[in-house]
Amino acid sequence: MSKGLPLNPALASVPVYQPGRPIEEVARELGLPAAEIIKLASNENPLGPSPAALAAMQRVLPQLHLYPDGNAFYLKQTLARKLELVPEHLIFGNGSNEIIEFVGHALLGPGADVIVSQYCFAVYPIVTRLFGANLVTVPAKNLGHDLPAMLGAITPRTRVVFVANPNNPTGTLASRQEVLRLVEAFPDDVLLVLDEAYIDFLDDPVDLLPLIRSGTRKNLLLMRTFSKIHGLAGLRLGYGIADPALIAAFEKVRQPFNINALVQAAALAALDDAEHVARTRANNRAGLEFFSRAFRALQVEHVPSAANFVLLRVGDGQRVFEGLQRLGVIARPMGGYQLPEWIRISIGTPAENERCLQALKRVLNR
Ligand SMILES: *Cc1c(COP(=O)(O)O)cnc(C)c1O
Repeated sequence: MSKGLPLNPALASVPVYQPGRPIEEVARELGLPAAEIIKLASNENPLGPSPAALAAMQRVLPQLHLYPDGNAFYLKQTLARKLELVPEHLIFGNGSNEIIEFVGHALLGPGADVIVSQYCFAVYPIVTRLFGANLVTVPAKNLGHDLPAMLGAITPRTRVVFVANPNNPTGTLASRQEVLRLVEAFPDDVLLVLDEAYIDFLDDPVDLLPLIRSGTRKNLLLMRTFSKIHGLAGLRLGYGIADPALIAAFEKVRQPFNINALVQAAALAALDDAEHVARTRANNRAGLEFFSRAFRALQVEHVPSAANFVLLRVGDGQRVFEGLQRLGVIARPMGGYQLPEWIRISIGTPAENERCLQALKRVLNR
């Protein structure tokens, strides 16, 4: 009798991540040219990558037979200088998703508790389960994080608390006061991960870098990414900012060449492309206003967003997602987030936003 492979038992409870559908896949399915389909499903930068990053990658192409710099020296130096930190405060990941995995390797295992909010980013529960740890979900407040309740949920078993601010998929923003209170009252022997993937879209974000610089919060990890504001989601680059002792622990679990040569060159150039960042922010602000005005006029319930997407209540989210898709607009259904009545739409270019709105009106019969 076959006994089968002795798979890691933790895998049985690991949820499967459901990404936004790729344009090519939907094009094949609908029999449409890819150029006629727009994707507003994964909070990507609708203006594309920074042109400076594209040029920098061209220059690296002839060197691709060589391994990348395993320490990403120039990129780390430049980013550290920009953030007024030292390189020892920084670690790069293959997307900030990989930083979340470093947290698992360094801190999680059976018997450990991880605290998240209801409607949190899908990767936190995945990594928690992957390492055999126990997920503790704190009910949301008005769809956002209830930070005092998350603090109150900490027990001696808690190892890590994940907070995304602004949060994905809701777009909600915790107040400055609540964030500062959380950081201040947080116990020293638990890791607080503050996911700042959307921080660059905020006008006046809470700045927690002083706590890292001064070394007063050795249990605080900030995570940021090049996927959103810099438009480099396809290259995969995120980073963690923390006390050098925690960064050193993460360095031990990181694969030697996790950041490839193209992304190192592209990110270095993107960091200096202030114009692309400014254009992205302006486009996003205008797009958020466009959608919230349109949804108010249509009386479609939506969550005021601090990020580059908006969550709206459409009734049967899966049906509306499919209807939009037939019209060539890829949005994101939210059933996997226990929000089956809602869909999430990423902010596009003005033309994409207009097309998405017209498609939505048709699907909703408005
Ligand atoms: C998009 C996003 C990230 C970034 O992921 P990458 O792996 O860097 O592309 C991280 N956290 C949240 C909450 C996000 O929405």
